[in-house]
Amino acid sequence: MYDDVVAFIRETFGTDGKIPLHEPRFRGNEKAYVADAIDSTFVSSVGEYVARFERAVADYVGCGHAVATVNGTAALHAALVVAGVRDGDEVITQPLTFVATANAIAYCRAKAVFVDVDLDTCGLSAQALRAFLERNAEVRNGACVNRKTGRVIRACVPMHAFGHPCRIGDIAAICAEWNITLVEDAAEALGSRSEGRHVGHAGPLGVLSFNGNKIITTGGGGMIVTDDPGIARHAKHVTTTAKRDHQWEFAHDEIGFNYRMPNLNAALGCAQMEMLPSFLAAKRRLAARYQAFFEGRSERFLCEPAGTESNYWLNCITAPDCAARDAFLKATNEAGVMTRPAWVLIPSLAMYADCECGPMANAERLADTLISLPSSVIEDSED
Ligand SMILES: *Cc1c(COP(=O)(O)O)cnc(C)c1O
Repeated sequence: MYDDVVAFIRETFGTDGKIPLHEPRFRGNEKAYVADAIDSTFVSSVGEYVARFERAVADYVGCGHAVATVNGTAALHAALVVAGVRDGDEVITQPLTFVATANAIAYCRAKAVFVDVDLDTCGLSAQALRAFLERNAEVRNGACVNRKTGRVIRACVPMHAFGHPCRIGDIAAICAEWNITLVEDAAEALGSRSEGRHVGHAGPLGVLSFNGNKIITTGGGGMIVTDDPGIARHAKHVTTTAKRDHQWEFAHDEIGFNYRMPNLNAALGCAQMEMLPSFLAAKRRLAARYQAFFEGRSERFLCEPAGTESNYWLNCITAPDCAARDAFLKATNEAGVMTRPAWVLIPSLAMYADCECGPMANAERLADTLISLPSSVIEDSED
């Protein structure tokens, strides 16, 4: 029943072998820069590739500053610390996300609160966020307080799912109105724009990931992005053990983390940034191909939301129902074509079962029907 899907994906990727969901490509200066980092002996926490990679990402994103970290989860954790999230606070996020989003909140000893997503963006719904706040919150002495729990809602972490930007302009406006610090989880969205502006800095803080499966990779890596020089300084400080600046003294002025990105990884990142425009072009070609193929079938291809430009990191479809989704997953995976469902909703996980949830019909629907498709960069021989 899905033979034509398998045949189409095989033809697209030009192979009879196993087709992964997303594999990295190293056809640029990766080996040269990594070898150079090794030759320099600066492979660890000091070295010029880190600053160069931070500059390259900040310039590309169009934000003033970027702070490289060991991975995206660490970037999220540090960003929440910088946002002032503390023991007993609440942080609003979406139920449909990778577990790292919720874990970073838990690392701060804060409570995640789950608000629904939009069906077209798969990201936090501005409308649901507003409804939740109007029903449950009030601003007292400058802080947004959840009337039911008495706790401060310190931050909001929307996630740009699969690279498709959520309605970040509306969400930023709501957060500003309610005195909630916006921390964008843009881990999947390097290269994505909303209303012409790169995602990640609609508010004070945003986070990127360079894990092996993301659009560019540093092996493992992450980045905090911000327009605010003071926030950037604090982010650098807490991710580098909060050591006070001194010629020789080891003194630290808060509980910091060893979250800095090694120079070796940053070297890989510098080379990958050079490839990003060609990766994005390849992703758009692949998305257009998938979109045309699924036209007129029972599955629906997930297009970039209106007013946005997606990086199409992972191409996704939705099946008509859960049974059709499972049949699709079974047929494709058994044929060696890797496809995956959406994440199990975070409040369905035992660790987060006691968290407050708004209505989440859209997240439930996507959790039941969404399928992500092989989305690695295919080099175009005509390029
Ligand atoms: C990948 C990812 C992260 C975390 O990144 P790591 O670099 O793997 O720690 C966080 N949030 C989302 C939504 C992600 O997809």
